[in-house]
Amino acid sequence: MANRWKIWAMGSINTWVSDIKMKEKTRKEYKRRIKLLLRSKLNGGNVIRAINTWAVTVLRYSGGILNWTQEELQNMDRMARKLINRTLHPRANVARLYLQRNEGGRGLQSTEETIKTEEHVLKKERRRKEKALHRQYAKIADKTDIKRTYKWIKNGYMKKETEGLITAAQDQALPTRWRKVKIEKQSGKSLCRMGNERDETTFHILSECSKIAQTEYKKRHDKLAQLVHWNLCKRYGLQHERNWYDHTAEKVLENEKVKILWDFSIQTDHVIQARRPDIVVKDKEMNHTWIIDIAVPGDARIEEKEEKIEKYQDLARELSWLWMTSTNVVPVIIVTLGAVGRLEEFLKMLEVDEKEVDRVQFSALLGSARILRKVLDIPG
Ligand SMILES: [Zn+2]
Repeated sequence: MANRWKIWAMGSINTWVSDIKMKEKTRKEYKRRIKLLLRSKLNGGNVIRAINTWAVTVLRYSGGILNWTQEELQNMDRMARKLINRTLHPRANVARLYLQRNEGGRGLQSTEETIKTEEHVLKKERRRKEKALHRQYAKIADKTDIKRTYKWIKNGYMKKETEGLITAAQDQALPTRWRKVKIEKQSGKSLCRMGNERDETTFHILSECSKIAQTEYKKRHDKLAQLVHWNLCKRYGLQHERNWYDHTAEKVLENEKVKILWDFSIQTDHVIQARRPDIVVKDKEMNHTWIIDIAVPGDARIEEKEEKIEKYQDLARELSWLWMTSTNVVPVIIVTLGAVGRLEEFLKMLEVDEKEVDRVQFSALLGSARILRKVLDIPG
């Protein structure tokens, strides 16, 4: 009896020892593959996808053979996160890393979920709660189309550093003064380093800092306006560069189909405050005029803003009278961190390819990323 027990125990120990060796081997291989992928030239979207397929596979094979404990798997996930975040961004929210890309996450497959799916209902429940927290953020996109708003992540054509920066900004995880003082309880001032006028939050830096409104915000806005203008030139067969980025808008452009004004002060009979819209398009064939108002606000009450286009209503009335056309105002609004509302619909109205909405969003995000880097002195 004692002997049999001994044999059983020895066998167990042998299995246990070889388990440890195998696990170590697996862990090393998993780590090696992640590192290789991170060093590759893949962009943010593709690198995660590649980790999910190529690196996680190693673990999946071991799932039925090795007896992983929950702790071991969690440690491995932690190791993976550490490696990934070092490249993508150091302060990314954990739940977010695992959230699906079309929900604004980065879509990493956790080893834990891969191997012990059914055994970790509890853990999943916790993760579900974390996701719910993130979704609360997503609500700032309010009634906007979440899938559309996060399309830039899903498409994955953004540089991984920039993608990391934007997601960290959305999660309020950037090292702003406000965060350092109020969240991390460091000593110092929480006021904006550009001019001390308000707390230095991500929101402040991206949309309400008066010190950079005329420079950085204007640059971001103008780039966006330039993109819209380029699209209009394309649509009406006016001369334009092949790449929108090289496009410079001229004050007045005209052909038999259209007249396009850029940042142009319009002479009116009546006194009108706002008479210098970003772009005015007079379609001669349709005898219709669009006043295009481009804005990159910080908060996401886009719907409200899209409805509230009062600013140029007086001008619209005046133009209808002066130019004898029907006129309406078209808002092109995109939130600093990428949320969009009815933009696609408005672009369609201008007969601009609705797919351009991606590029418009992309341009705004790049502008915001540049501002964050500059103010917070983040290399990239
Ligand atoms: Zn400021």
